[in-house]
Amino acid sequence: MTEMFGKFIRENYGVREDIYRQGQEVEAGLEETFKRIDAIRDYNQIKVLKAMQDVGIAERHFGGSSGYGYDDIGRDAIDEVYAKTFGAESAVVRSQIVSGTHCLCTALFGVLRPGDELLAVTGKPYDTLDTVIGIRPGNGSLKEFGVIYKQVDLKENGEPDYDAIYEAVNPKTKVVLVQRSRGYCYRPAMTLAQIQKISETVKNKNKSTLVFTDNCYGEFVDVKEPTQCGADFMAGSLIKNPGGGLALSGGYIAGREDIVDMCGERITAPGLGKHLGASQFACRNILQGFYFAPHIVAESLKGAAFASAMVERAGIETSPKSTDVRSDIVQCIKFNDPELMKTFCRAIQAGAPVDSFVIPEAAELPGYDDKVIMAAGAFVQGSSIELSADGPMREPYIAYMQGGLTYANVKLAVLIAMQEISKLM
Ligand SMILES: *Cc1c(COP(=O)(O)O)cnc(C)c1O
Repeated sequence: MTEMFGKFIRENYGVREDIYRQGQEVEAGLEETFKRIDAIRDYNQIKVLKAMQDVGIAERHFGGSSGYGYDDIGRDAIDEVYAKTFGAESAVVRSQIVSGTHCLCTALFGVLRPGDELLAVTGKPYDTLDTVIGIRPGNGSLKEFGVIYKQVDLKENGEPDYDAIYEAVNPKTKVVLVQRSRGYCYRPAMTLAQIQKISETVKNKNKSTLVFTDNCYGEFVDVKEPTQCGADFMAGSLIKNPGGGLALSGGYIAGREDIVDMCGERITAPGLGKHLGASQFACRNILQGFYFAPHIVAESLKGAAFASAMVERAGIETSPKSTDVRSDIVQCIKFNDPELMKTFCRAIQAGAPVDSFVIPEAAELPGYDDKVIMAAGAFVQGSSIELSADGPMREPYIAYMQGGLTYANVKLAVLIAMQEISKLM
């Protein structure tokens, strides 16, 4: 962080000299962490580049298609680029998938059949899957279709309970669900080594059980993906990491070819599969976003490390810690105080490129028991690869911060937040 940066934020945002100095110190202390992030970024960048070159991406792939989308070469090329990059046999990437939840739901319905068991092995899955699985009543949930749900919680220390997983897998266990990211939980993200070990544990008990990873927020954080570490298939959202901030909507499912084909039948209709579906005008953004994704993920990881280091300095607890090796882009900040949390979120909003004039209020949200506060000022609605901070207003007042298209912007937002927080502490 340069004096020039410091002068600008003092003059334009009123960020005090002492806050800026703290930021400078914190940044200097993160040198090793940033080097590690850069190394992963560079590797992933050339991995994506090579996949695009191997597929022979050209102007003709950006044109799009209409109607049924027969012979949509852009769509098919995107599927191939994703598959190659993720070391998977096959992938289906579609802008028509409306969200991460929709994508995970599609993958689960694509594979599970009546009488099958779904076993979540990283505790209760992400909130919005409750109604998909039938943990809470949902019209057309897996439960209504006769899919049995079981769950193995993580151990106290956040590690997978391998013994309990081995015990729980039985001949009816069709799919084991591994959630890589912490989601809205104050627990560590699953590392690829842990995903590998879960997979080995599962397969030791039942070779035909499929390991499925919810990879939301995980893409490009490490040099491999779950499909290269024992997972049979995985899914994620294009308005998170792999969209690189440019994809306007969508989701992907990648993994074993037969499984991806089954999911394809679910995306369109049995018998039609993944060979239909007009990409319309989405191809260029999806491809360019994927190209940028390793870089954007690195920017957001640096922002997360900077944020955690700054709040740690102020004596606030974080997970992961600023210098920890990460497996997702989420930064948990435990404020233990509603005012601090609200102030932090409002400052993040004030630092956004879009809707910076909006003051977030905690409000009721469908599916949540407590009021939720959400700070997001994004070019793409709901995109959380762009900087956002949110969380339910309940003890211990944890804000979940993620994303950031540029590290400099995250830095500014965090410095504004620290200044506002310092007035309350
Ligand atoms: C974001 C997320 C989801 C759901 O994605 P939406 O786009 O919000 O529907 C599911 N699982 C995890 C781990 C997530 O981070």
